[in-house]
Amino acid sequence: MQNSKSKQKTCKRKHLQLDGHSQKTPKTTSEEPYPFHHRPTPEECRVVRDELLVLHGFPPEFLKYRRHRLIINESNLESLTNSNNGDGKKESVLDGLVKIVLSQNTTEINSQKAFASLKSVFPTWEDVLSAESKTLENAIRCGGLAPKKASCIKNVLSCLHERKGKLCLEYLRDMSIDEVKSELSNFKGVGPKTVACVLMFNLQQDDFPVDTHVFEIARAIGWVPAIADRNRTYLHLNRRIPNELKFDLNCLLYTHGKVCRKCTMKGSSQKKLAPKDGSCPLSDYRRNLA
Ligand SMILES: [Zn+2]
Repeated sequence: MQNSKSKQKTCKRKHLQLDGHSQKTPKTTSEEPYPFHHRPTPEECRVVRDELLVLHGFPPEFLKYRRHRLIINESNLESLTNSNNGDGKKESVLDGLVKIVLSQNTTEINSQKAFASLKSVFPTWEDVLSAESKTLENAIRCGGLAPKKASCIKNVLSCLHERKGKLCLEYLRDMSIDEVKSELSNFKGVGPKTVACVLMFNLQQDDFPVDTHVFEIARAIGWVPAIADRNRTYLHLNRRIPNELKFDLNCLLYTHGKVCRKCTMKGSSQKKLAPKDGSCPLSDYRRNLA
């Protein structure tokens, strides 16, 4: 269905994004911000993945997405159709995107509560679209930043309704990474990190989102130049990290960033740390930079 120009204008993304940075979503994966920075090497990525896996185990909250990915890699589509996300049914792409929006700037427990509350107050996405903004805000308040998140969710739904006539994002499953980026950049409030998370978790694409934890670790261990910003870190790491390692490595770096003070405290590489931090397997990488 062809959209009118006026509708496209209505759906145009504004500058304010929940992702915490206002840079545009990269449209392609061909940009190379640091062509002379040769780290991380594929071998380094593999070693870090293995060491973090030994230290943390695979984070349980990401297991259901990993299972879907494994099934797809084995081309066992029948199993995928019959599989579920652990709570009785397969997660839709739209549910996944809203969960990612709700997860920003809050704890996992609070974002889960906010999503459960949203679903209990509004049984369908059509109910959310037609609801008063205040009612939506109240439903997701426990996840923090309620007005911003409510506005983002409403915008996604109204934009989707205008463009596609129905509240469903399943069509993204048939698109390439660049097509998904281009498509989701039309939804205002949906920033680069949200897009990358939808690609990795919900669409089982080989993309590597860069959240605060991943960004800080990447800088701390020299995987990007010290001057790197988050957007360029995203572009650089997506070029350097082998596709087959992206998912596990991302989940593990995120988990490590949440628990390791040593890796995520700026300028702290020389600082004396608690004994439990002494076991950080990334110490050698940081020491080499000191
Ligand atoms: Zn560490």
